[in-house]
Amino acid sequence: MAQNVVVVGAGVLGLSTALVLSAHKNLDITVVAKHMPGDYDIEYASPWAGANYFPVGKPGSNLQRFEKATWTELDRICRQVPEAGIHYQPTRVYGRKKDVGTATGQWFHELTKEDAWFKEVVPNFRILAKSELPEDCDTGTEFTSVCINTAVYLPWVLGQCVKAGVTIKRGILSHISQAGLYHTSGHADVVVNCTGLLASKLGGVMDSSLYPGRGQIVLVRNEPGVMLTVSGTDDGSEEATYIMQRAVGGGTILGGCLQHNSWESQPDPNLAQRIMQRSIDLCPSLAPKTGKVTELSVIRHGVGLRPMRTGGPRVEKEKIEGLWVVHNYGHAGYGYQSGWGSAWEAERFVLDIVQQGQIRANL
Ligand SMILES: Cc1cc2nc3c(=O)[nH]c(=O)nc-3n(C[C@H](O)[C@H](O)[C@H](O)COP(=O)(O)OP(=O)(O)OC[C@H]3O[C@@H](n4cnc5c(N)ncnc54)[C@H](O)[C@@H]3O)c2cc1C
Repeated sequence: MAQNVVVVGAGVLGLSTALVLSAHKNLDITVVAKHMPGDYDIEYASPWAGANYFPVGKPGSNLQRFEKATWTELDRICRQVPEAGIHYQPTRVYGRKKDVGTATGQWFHELTKEDAWFKEVVPNFRILAKSELPEDCDTGTEFTSVCINTAVYLPWVLGQCVKAGVTIKRGILSHISQAGLYHTSGHADVVVNCTGLLASKLGGVMDSSLYPGRGQIVLVRNEPGVMLTVSGTDDGSEEATYIMQRAVGGGTILGGCLQHNSWESQPDPNLAQRIMQRSIDLCPSLAPKTGKVTELSVIRHGVGLRPMRTGGPRVEKEKIEGLWVVHNYGHAGYGYQSGWGSAWEAERFVLDIVQQGQIRANL
């Protein structure tokens, strides 16, 4: 007999998990969410992401395991599924000694190491010579990574779910136990909780270790020719500089910042100016004629809230008021680069629960 699964959330985690689960023909899956691909809302992190593969997990952590596993799938999609909106990018990552201990420096600690753990994962990894570094940088590496056009990728994953028989519905839950009401049968055997930052406000979950990591971006038409980042800026501990060109005409994302505990949804125009100027300083090919911000052709300014979580992403099972729930949220600034690995971990928990249920039913 089919087991009923409801996935709550249609961000990159909810959709990836639903797609992974849809391979099991004994599961009848519904996705329910307040926000869907195509929406732009401060409560919905996924559309705002760059998004690229810049690994940051500490060696031995779950995050590192998820990031390592996810590369294989992003690489496969990049090679085999051009319509998914992912492409390879030549990438450079620079480190400055003075950023050790700043918010951005900590975030990019693993990424900017010359002896990075992912040097065997991504292709063409090499340490840059001092002569190849910008003046104020102390270290640097080069490798091939990917950049995802989230406006194409999210609808693509959604479409793959629909093709595999997953039902998609809009809905707002005030308590996780309401998930079953959205299944066509009116009942869920297992609920997968992919509600991101809003897991902090969802009845039955109310995770107080979640908090927003505000990110502000500028999307421009200008082409950088290379994907770049630096371990910090001279404009404060929480500001960052990263540049990435999205696949299939998605424009170039200029970032950014990581402002802990800020829920502010509106772009700060002064910060936007700093982001654009820093991007040109780091990558003059963005504005080759004048080197000025006015040469940038802005598509839009944006703000997204990364679902930060003390202790890292939560991927585990829990019984809430008699209902089995598999949590898969709290992926901060790495939901795309760790998403498939995390979805496969959630899948293992769902299958554990379903198999235990079947054993009980057969007794
Ligand atoms: C500026 C910025 C840049 C980023 N860059 C990158 C990058 O380059 N690489 C990378 O890997 N990651 C990046 N990220 C991080 C990435 O965007 C997030 O980790 C990821 O989007 C989180 O996805 P999610 O599915 O957990 O949450 P979300 O995308 O927020 O989705 C949550 C879903 O749950 C639903 N939901 C929540 N509560 C309820 C409820 N009560 N009832 C019904 N539905 C509910 C919402 O409607 C939504 O569908 C970036 C983030 C930002 C903000």
